[in-house]
Amino acid sequence: MPRMSALDSALHQLAGAAEQLGLDDGMHQLLATPRRSMEVAVPLRRDDGSLTVLKGYRVQHNFSRGPAKGGIRFHPDTDLDEVRALAMWMTWKCALIGIPYGGAKGGVAVDPRSLSRIELERVTRRYASEIMPIIGPEKDIPAPDVGTEEQTMDWIMDTYSAHQGYTVTGVVTGKPVSIGGSQGRGGATSRGVMYAAFSALAEAGVDHRGATVAVQGFGKVGGLAAQYLHDAGCRVVAVSDVQGGVFRGAGLNPAALIARLREGAESVVGSPGTDTITNEELLELDVDVLVPAALDGVISEENADRVKARFVVEGANGPTTPDGDAVLEGNGTVVVPDILANSGGVAVSYFEWVQDLQAWFWSEDEVNDRLKGLMTRAYDDVSALAAERGISLRTAAQTIGVGRVADAHRTRGLYP
Ligand code: GLU
Repeated sequence: MPRMSALDSALHQLAGAAEQLGLDDGMHQLLATPRRSMEVAVPLRRDDGSLTVLKGYRVQHNFSRGPAKGGIRFHPDTDLDEVRALAMWMTWKCALIGIPYGGAKGGVAVDPRSLSRIELERVTRRYASEIMPIIGPEKDIPAPDVGTEEQTMDWIMDTYSAHQGYTVTGVVTGKPVSIGGSQGRGGATSRGVMYAAFSALAEAGVDHRGATVAVQGFGKVGGLAAQYLHDAGCRVVAVSDVQGGVFRGAGLNPAALIARLREGAESVVGSPGTDTITNEELLELDVDVLVPAALDGVISEENADRVKARFVVEGANGPTTPDGDAVLEGNGTVVVPDILANSGGVAVSYFEWVQDLQAWFWSEDEVNDRLKGLMTRAYDDVSALAAERGISLRTAAQTIGVGRVADAHRTRGLYP
């Protein structure tokens, strides 16, 4: 059976929330349909002089609570349906944590590792200029996602500003601090993953100190999540990247693994003193906390029964499919859903945008304190609704997010 797509998963989850909320068919249909979808050609002159044409997308799922917000991913498998699903998740995520945005997502179907730095800059600037009519600090504010980073946001900001004729820092978030980025944005998603994990552990009466952790994905989210969890006293026994994983029962030192990659190693695999494992094996380790922080659909009906972790804290967007969810729920696994667990990134993106619009910048402690406050409140809202209705944390989180967006639609009314 083919694995459920991200869009099927997102629509399935929306249907669950619609049922909880008793939404009528019209409202359900309105929320299932993206407000605006753009597909663009991104022609690229390669360094060898040849021309290749890539596909790019930007989907704005909803604006009812404010400008659209969401990342841009560069990944060879990105397509319009995936971007639609990711944009929809952004809408619920922003509503759930109470920041005044709708949801969007963008992508270019390309493997960034196959491009030289100058090719990457050309792709980014051309894509930015193609989506320029629909982005802007009051309209839609992109940010990093899989395969993009601070440098990508810097190029987008610069391209947009060149066309406006003045510097517009608030058009993207996740920028370098030197050009209007926020303190604490780089590690924000990972820090949020840690807060979400600690909330879930505390609720179950489990001390996080000494808790064993496995992290799938050692990129922007997974690498720092592993480090923060380790620094807070957890025992991180396994991490992985696209090439595979490493295991050490006595605990790994994530900072040393990150340093090794910075020094030029291609993968965590081969780190001294570790055993090599596969990504599949990592998901099935007997640990307290599993953090899938790579791509969507990695826990499905096929392997969910073999997941032994007591807590799954979703650093990635959509790592568990609905049929995988059902198996985990049946086994008593606590799943802290993506729109809650990985919301630290967009939370600090919001702080960055506020700082840019005010041209008034905060200290890292202020950013981290506000992030903690926002995420703890969101977790408490979700856990209270889950307990009240006897539903999973995922359904509760979706119900709160979708409910707030439906409310905004009702309050604003339908034009014309
Ligand atoms: N790409 C991140 C996410 O999926 C961050 C989005 C943002 O900051 O706008 O939540």
